[in-house]
Amino acid sequence: DCIFCKIAAGEVPSTKVYENEMAYAFEDLNPMMPVHTLVVPKKHYRNVADELPADELAALFEAVRAVAALKGVDESGFRIISNAGANAQQTVDHLHIHVLGGAPMNAGDPSRS
Ligand code: AMP
Ligand code: ZN
Repeated sequence: DCIFCKIAAGEVPSTKVYENEMAYAFEDLNPMMPVHTLVVPKKHYRNVADELPADELAALFEAVRAVAALKGVDESGFRIISNAGANAQQTVDHLHIHVLGGAPMNAGDPSRS
């Protein structure tokens, strides 16, 4: 009963940006930057503290690179964030990588984006 499992399976609507065999990327519902896309593994993991097989990790990062290129931020620069657990304010317990860009960001700001 996980919202991002359902999105990756196409059972809950999303604005798809990219997909490969093991990862799915879609637009964040509540964007914090001009570019704000989420990349998730199709299988359920709680966050990056969970161990992922090498092929799924590779697919996840292939999707991050593809999203950066498709959204046109691969040259201008982008930031990835993956909140893990309560202190990081993770709100959806399915591993997800925020891909943020399209405008300058503060350096080293430990807050959410
Ligand atoms: P986090 O706070 O790191 O757990 O991030 C969860 C993110 O998921 C937030 O940025 C939400 O805006 C986003 N989000 C939650 N539900 C959906 C959804 N159904 N479709 C797209 N983005 C979502
Ligand atoms: Zn899930």
